[in-house]
Amino acid sequence: MLKCPFHEDKTASLSVNLADGVWNCQAACGKGGIIDFEMAVSKCDRDTAKANIADIVCVDLFGTGDHKPEAIYQYRDANGAMVFEKLRHHGKSFILRRPVGKGYACDLKGITLNPLYNLPELVTANVAIICEGEKDCDNVTRAIGGRPRLKNAALTIRRKSPTVLP
Ligand SMILES: [Zn+2]
Repeated sequence: MLKCPFHEDKTASLSVNLADGVWNCQAACGKGGIIDFEMAVSKCDRDTAKANIADIVCVDLFGTGDHKPEAIYQYRDANGAMVFEKLRHHGKSFILRRPVGKGYACDLKGITLNPLYNLPELVTANVAIICEGEKDCDNVTRAIGGRPRLKNAALTIRRKSPTVLP
């Protein structure tokens, strides 16, 4: 039993069943699932509660599509291993997330590497083109015929002649 956040609770009257994902206040504040809880906490309607939960966990749990990212940009180390992802949502808002087990955490805790976008390709490329954002990088990469294959991780960036596109 937990102290209920919806009333002045001296006796801990909130039960939460994590296996079933349901809660119930013995003092009759309410009961229900995760959406009902978010509606009560944020004093919002059902759709807003779903959107809030999707924001918190970075996953479109309820299939509303509202929080489906327009693009996912993977940042990888020189060997091609994913370090973190940048999710682009409607209105050019971004969320960063790192892999944890089979899922993600919406933060960069413990990540000390901040690789350049397309670093594995940059390592082996003869020409480097620097663009404003990931979308431009992807468009330019597609325009020049796809990504060069990753051959080795020897960083030879000093020998490249970077071209900057405004
Ligand atoms: Zn209560």
